[in-house]
Amino acid sequence: MKDTVNSTATFEGQFARDFAELAIPWRAEEAPDPRLLVLNEPLAVDLGLDPDYLRSPEGTLLLIGNGLPDGATPVAQAYAGHQFGWYAPRLGDGRALLLGELTHADGRLRDVHLKGSGRTPFARGGDGRAVVGPMLREYIVSESMHALGVPTTRSLAVVATGRPVQRDTVLPGAVLTRVASSHLRVGSFQYARATGDIDLLRRLADYAISRHHPAAAEAENRYLALFEAVVEAQASLLARWMLVGFVHGVMNTDNMTISGETIDYGPCAFMDAFDPAASFSSIDETGRYAYRNQPPVAEWNLARLAETLLPLIHDDQDKAAELAVEALGGFRPQYSAAWAAGMKAKIGLRGVKDDAASPLVDELLALLQAARADYTSFFRALAQAARGRRESARNMVADAAAFESWAERWCALEPDADAMDRVNPVYIPRNHLVEEALAAGTDGDVGPLGRLMEAVSSPFDERPGLERYAEPGPEDTAYRTFCGT
Ligand code: AMP
Ligand code: MG
Repeated sequence: MKDTVNSTATFEGQFARDFAELAIPWRAEEAPDPRLLVLNEPLAVDLGLDPDYLRSPEGTLLLIGNGLPDGATPVAQAYAGHQFGWYAPRLGDGRALLLGELTHADGRLRDVHLKGSGRTPFARGGDGRAVVGPMLREYIVSESMHALGVPTTRSLAVVATGRPVQRDTVLPGAVLTRVASSHLRVGSFQYARATGDIDLLRRLADYAISRHHPAAAEAENRYLALFEAVVEAQASLLARWMLVGFVHGVMNTDNMTISGETIDYGPCAFMDAFDPAASFSSIDETGRYAYRNQPPVAEWNLARLAETLLPLIHDDQDKAAELAVEALGGFRPQYSAAWAAGMKAKIGLRGVKDDAASPLVDELLALLQAARADYTSFFRALAQAARGRRESARNMVADAAAFESWAERWCALEPDADAMDRVNPVYIPRNHLVEEALAAGTDGDVGPLGRLMEAVSSPFDERPGLERYAEPGPEDTAYRTFCGT
């Protein structure tokens, strides 16, 4: 924590200043009757912002870009992107603005960004707005991911604007104030590359190196090293998603960061029943972004990033492609190693050799899939099994005899139950609880949101009174979340 917290932390306008080609100066739409719904006080303090000030009418205006803070030079950022496999050359912030950068208590810069702040020149047919429900979903899920130790953008606040917004029905408008290591996306590089301005591309790559992957600056081929660093960060990120049962829902290249943080929580969800085909997004009709497809999709997106960097990697484009393909080849082994290590930890066998642990992991996942067992609560029950109380885990799988045979071999390796409880969450933002908090928040009642946040902010620490936050919802195969609202 910083010693002094002031109400007027000074924003830097680095991106706005240095990347005029990728940034259109723009102002947030005036909110008729702004009302703060939720504020992330610890994050505010880490950014040098005074929570009491942010709760004041003036501070609330700052959170939505209506009262411009010192140094803020809001811009809409340009980017391109492959959406469901199809290239869109000009996406950009259609309803979002980068306010500027602030220095976090850790000494590094963070982007402060608005989502739902009105139409920009990138809005195409959209109204530039967002509504309370989906902005609260991003708040809940991103902060849960952070508490679970998964790299992610953060949520500073959600402010209801007081403006009715037309969707299927009329819904209350809102702005999410988002904080990120940066908003550089694979799509930012696709856009820069498509301009044909190699100097711009090089400056963008240098900026990404300095903000996210500074070790690449020391490498012999710094742009190849940048690509390798992004591959590594994404391989690690994807393993973490898979280990906690997270389904992003819209893994378009404009929704994949260079920093390795999860970004853009739209139609995302945690799966309850273990199902490799789990998919929740109403717009993902073919299951392109289903749970099991996420690692290969990330690899596909990284190939698109590689294509943009080829002119920087080597003068000879054949040689550049060869180097990039080799670097991309690191994704699968890095992902597999991170996932296997994480799975070993989930079953309490961190110190056990892979050739003993991997067959147990594979067998266990097959049992969970056959039973459609609740993925999150099963691993907590399994820690109890490691303590000698096998009943609840056994009851969660259909084939009790197969579970007993598995558990005998597993127990022989002496799983560490306490270590399991440190990596297997009790509380995740379960779909029915998220929906409950969103519905109440849309009606102006943030009580359920506050209680859910209390549970998911300390996900590994089981507490009395929070039992309903640990339980799976009703069988959820039909759960659908809707995008872009
Ligand atoms: P997303 O699905 O949030 O990743 O958004 C994809 C693209 O659509 C981005 O360029 C957004 O800025 C844009 N977009 C989404 N919703 C709206 C909206 N209501 N108005 C304008 N642009 C939007
Ligand atoms: Mg997006």
